[in-house]
Amino acid sequence: MSENESVAASGRVWDVVVVGGGVAGLSAALTLARVRRSVLVIDAGEPRNAPAAAAHGFLSRDGVAPLELLRLGREEVASYGGHVESGRVAGVRREGAHLVVTTQGGGRAVARRVLVTTGLVDELPDVAGLAERWGRDVLHCPYCHGWEVRDTAVGVLATGPAAFHQALLFRQLSPDVTVFLHTGGDPTDEQWEQLAALGIDVVDGEVRALEVDDRDRLSGVRLASGRSVAVDALVVAPRFEARAGFLAELGLAVTEHPMGMGGQLTADAGGFTGVEGVWAAGNVTDLMAGVPAAAASGTQAAAAINLDLIGADARAAVAARRPGADR
Ligand SMILES: Cc1cc2nc3c(=O)[nH]c(=O)nc-3n(C[C@H](O)[C@H](O)[C@H](O)COP(=O)(O)OP(=O)(O)OC[C@H]3O[C@@H](n4cnc5c(N)ncnc54)[C@H](O)[C@@H]3O)c2cc1C
Repeated sequence: MSENESVAASGRVWDVVVVGGGVAGLSAALTLARVRRSVLVIDAGEPRNAPAAAAHGFLSRDGVAPLELLRLGREEVASYGGHVESGRVAGVRREGAHLVVTTQGGGRAVARRVLVTTGLVDELPDVAGLAERWGRDVLHCPYCHGWEVRDTAVGVLATGPAAFHQALLFRQLSPDVTVFLHTGGDPTDEQWEQLAALGIDVVDGEVRALEVDDRDRLSGVRLASGRSVAVDALVVAPRFEARAGFLAELGLAVTEHPMGMGGQLTADAGGFTGVEGVWAAGNVTDLMAGVPAAAASGTQAAAAINLDLIGADARAAVAARRPGADR
């Protein structure tokens, strides 16, 4: 069945359905709408950085509230005729030449191509009071929040080898850094030497809970021994798990990140997943991407998808001119 035959049979077929309307998905939708592709973004409205008051490092938008950035993005997409709808995609399956996207609310959209930009879930260490402070004074990224905690007392909660790397990164921002060994194992001899040379304190023992002052600010951590250590911010290393469970029917699943940071979808530089018609961009396929990188990968995937569609459109036009073709 040709793409056009199926379009006629099943009503509206979007050139592209984008699953997830964070910076990756909206950047892709903007690019696609501007080359006159019909594009529908379906978005559950929970970008990963929503707990943070501000997004930093996006040139000319530094410090913008994450949800405000997406509101502006939705407006820009709409101004070129792109559509953004609220909803949570439950599955994607192939039907003939097309992909059918279904939502938890019973919605259905038919697409020639699908772009997955659903981001990831930060799986946080299980310490009492920690999850509530995520994105406020429990942090992970020096480029996102490091400036905001410069020269304060920064704790690093070790749950794996990344902690020692994070300690060095945050030492660039504050002279007062303490590593809590917690469940992270012992530093290597080389790491001990570096921590000591940089004046980074190391505290042995498990952290049981976070302590908060009467202004709802982090004030310290309490160890299993009962000892409290004052900190103004706590750096953690979550496991990053791509939101991709709804792609099972297409045979797409997450694979382990090469450095053990979590699970992500595999895609090539243009975002192609290897499954016909399906692309991915942003954190779902690059766990380490910040806002600018996620936006850029969405734009790149949009261009790759448009190129693919242009090829399909040109082949269909040639086929339609052949003798015997139904005009
Ligand atoms: C606390 C915190 C603060 C951060 N601060 C910064 C910062 O200051 N600067 C910076 O550069 N980076 C920052 N980051 C990283 C930043 O959040 C990511 O780079 C960015 O959100 C990735 O964009 P994305 O579009 O790939 O995913 P997201 O922004 O997470 O967007 C994914 C969207 O898809 C939706 N979705 C998920 N599943 C479905 C589904 N099944 N159906 C429909 N929609 C779905 C989600 O609800 C969400 O709206 C921060 C991260 C965290 C955790």
